Amino acid sequence: MDNRDEVLGGLLTLGFDEASCISRVHSHLYRKVSPHRPSPYLISKLRNYEQIHASCGPNTRTYHRNMRKIQLSKDNNATATTCNYLIWTPVNGLGNQIISIAATFLYAILTDRVLLLKFGKDKLALFCEPFLNSTWILPHNSPFWKEIYIQTYQIEKDNASNSKSVLFINLQHSHSDSSHKEKFHCDHLQNLIRKTPLLILRSDQYFVPSLFMNPLFNLEINKMFPEKDTVFHHLGRYLFHPSNEAWELITNYYQAHLAKADELIGLQIRVFNAVSTPQQAIMDLVLSCTLNHKILPKVDLQTSTSSVGKNGSVKAVLVASLYEEYGDSLRRMYQKKPKGSGESIEVYQPSHERKQIFNDGKHNLKAWMEMYLLSLSDVLVTTSLSTFGYVAQGLGNLKPWLLYRIVRNETHFPACEQDFSMEPCYHDPPKHYCEGKPLKDFASSFPSLKECKDFSFGVKLVDDRTKL
Ligand code: GDP
Repeated sequence: MDNRDEVLGGLLTLGFDEASCISRVHSHLYRKVSPHRPSPYLISKLRNYEQIHASCGPNTRTYHRNMRKIQLSKDNNATATTCNYLIWTPVNGLGNQIISIAATFLYAILTDRVLLLKFGKDKLALFCEPFLNSTWILPHNSPFWKEIYIQTYQIEKDNASNSKSVLFINLQHSHSDSSHKEKFHCDHLQNLIRKTPLLILRSDQYFVPSLFMNPLFNLEINKMFPEKDTVFHHLGRYLFHPSNEAWELITNYYQAHLAKADELIGLQIRVFNAVSTPQQAIMDLVLSCTLNHKILPKVDLQTSTSSVGKNGSVKAVLVASLYEEYGDSLRRMYQKKPKGSGESIEVYQPSHERKQIFNDGKHNLKAWMEMYLLSLSDVLVTTSLSTFGYVAQGLGNLKPWLLYRIVRNETHFPACEQDFSMEPCYHDPPKHYCEGKPLKDFASSFPSLKECKDFSFGVKLVDDRTKL
């Protein structure tokens, strides 16, 4: 086995017990080799982070000593500790959570903090531990599991307070007080946070563009990621290894249905409002996109032959949706074609949960399995604004075709457009500069940020060469 592939160009470190996380060593057998190599600087930052995590993380004496100190001084001015900590607290669906963990990890690297995740039972079976001989899960006996900390240690609106030993910052999209999100990249807030040994951060967003807006972080991110649209691609593949349970589901499904196909098309159909949006309108949109862009062949219903593709070749379509009707409808359409004429289209849909369920481990496993399978696609079609799709595109180095997000039964042309970057979109960027002036045009102030195609209020990192 080629070691270079196994460690993803030096992104991963060796030394893990293979049996405890089979996906870490086998994922390269399923995924194409990425043309994007991690930079030596990124690799050195990751190795440095791993050392910090190993010496300050849970199960170390240093961790217990520091946490005790923080706990004792939580109501006072910041105490000095030998390591600083960053607790990520979840909100919203799994896609939101995965992209926000990646952003939080980047922030942890940039600020030399140990990242700890508040993972409930619903997420314990999803991922392997990413850091050697340690855990990234906030120990269940930690007092900082209590929501009370969140209420009590809010960073004050005017940010004028002295730094405390514990601070809470809310970067959640729908949070009514936007002052934290607006100012997160600003030096005065970062200076305050820097003195705080424990920061609790809640987010459902990929706030990397906001970090990029801070001059110091910007310098570092530029050095770590010379190709700027690869931040999630690298950090996502570094952090999110399917657990053995998830890996078994993924590989069993892949072997049973997808491995024999000549091409894999991922089709993610996210319906944000099932009550107001008729299924036919969504199906029309999907067909208009996939047929017009020759992602799928047209079927001549008279002769029942498909119009493109080599005789005998197989295209597998992996449908991810809460609703089985989409997979069924597509399957019926292609079943009409007699075998042997043109290419065969085989349609698979692993699950149809009908609704999003919160705090449910089995439900999350299915979602994670589907995000991962979608990331193995050759061509990916996703729904605008869906973070579920963002995870798949980023892991898979895919610039997806973005389905227009219809909310009623309107028709839209074009039905989809191909994205210019595989990075997730940050839906909630600051609307002001730090000194308060409105920030209207990101691109002129930050040449590596561009308005998202699927959400004009959002921004994402773009490889400068693409932008020219
Ligand atoms: P977003 O809301 O589309 O940005 O994606 P999230 O992943 O944050 O939240 C949607 C959640 O609904 C997922 O995490 C799943 O729990 C569920 N869900 C939505 N679409 C699908 C799907 O296609 N397959 C599965 N298994 N679950 C889905």
